[in-house]
Amino acid sequence: MFFLIPFVCGINHYDKEYDNNPNHKSIYCPNCHNFSVRPIKRREFVSLWWVPIVPLYWGKQLHCPICNWRQDFKNDEQLQKILVEQNNIKTGAPPKYS
Ligand SMILES: [Zn+2]
Repeated sequence: MFFLIPFVCGINHYDKEYDNNPNHKSIYCPNCHNFSVRPIKRREFVSLWWVPIVPLYWGKQLHCPICNWRQDFKNDEQLQKILVEQNNIKTGAPPKYS
């Protein structure tokens, strides 16, 4: 007997909420100028039959759901630094370089 089994493979990605901090819900997007960017945990896999097999990307990103802009960040400290810069944009204060 002969079975033809199609192999369905592709790239799947899983985005998860980074945390529930309300300060992280309205970050400025430099691309579309909305305050809708959120930090997310993103994982990308090469998958076969929707089963993730080979990880391609595993990390944290800032993501804008409106224009799909993304930027990687490494850790909480870097996120806090971005938030301080964001606050300067909101309040119109000149950027401080130290
Ligand atoms: Zn955007």
